[in-house]
Amino acid sequence: MDIPRIFNITESAHRIHNPFTPEKLATLGTALRLEPGTRMLDLGSGSGEMLCTWARNHGVIGTGIDMSQLFIEQAKLRAEALGVADRVTFIHGDAAGYVSDKNVDVAACVGATWIGGGVVGTIELLARSLSPGGIILVGEPYWRQLPTEDIAKGCHANSISDFLMLPELLASFGNLAYDVVEMVLADQDSWDRYEAAKWLTMRRWLEANPADEFVEEVRAQLTSEPVRYASYTREYLGWGVFALMPR
Ligand code: SAH
Repeated sequence: MDIPRIFNITESAHRIHNPFTPEKLATLGTALRLEPGTRMLDLGSGSGEMLCTWARNHGVIGTGIDMSQLFIEQAKLRAEALGVADRVTFIHGDAAGYVSDKNVDVAACVGATWIGGGVVGTIELLARSLSPGGIILVGEPYWRQLPTEDIAKGCHANSISDFLMLPELLASFGNLAYDVVEMVLADQDSWDRYEAAKWLTMRRWLEANPADEFVEEVRAQLTSEPVRYASYTREYLGWGVFALMPR
């Protein structure tokens, strides 16, 4: 079981697989006023940077689940490197339908809401692992400006309806009977750290793997991505992590 190999190639050097910088991730951890011993669940935990750095900075305890074998290995190494391997556990597997044995104080899905079939389903899934008074974290894109259907496709969305504008996204949480109690948003510079970092990774990968069957695909992406990204995603797509508490 694994995610499509192209992501394991283009994001192999990423610690954070979303448009947040380490500073923004740290800002979010501080904003949530996490107490030592706070229990966390992270569905689609990637390379584990959120759990590992929050375990170091705030003393959280937690479990991450991710379908990428590579990212899970990187998460375990990161936990060792930060000296938090006794506080965080990383499980390789499909997080769809995953509910923790013991309820958690923070249940997160940051940039992987397809795991629950979309934002609504993911919130419902996370809620099943949440303690009373706990916080749900959802990382999700939104439109910074309303695109045309062609621009939406340029942003790698299927259609405009894939995402909402920020006020509508915030209102949608209210309609599900959740209070939005915090948020940290990406900006264009932090998007660059996510997207532009893939380009050097791809270039280095092409040089190291000239005979690989993915060469053509990676070469095509490296050639087209900078202009596509600057034309569409960078201008039109926002992203944020939203902290929610049931009303
Ligand atoms: N939350 C992490 C990773 C976001 S990228 C971060 O912010 O850095 C999306 C992640 O979802 C990837 O790590 C990918 O491997 C993982 N993923 C995709 N489908 C999954 C599934 N069905 N179950 C668990 N993880 C999944």
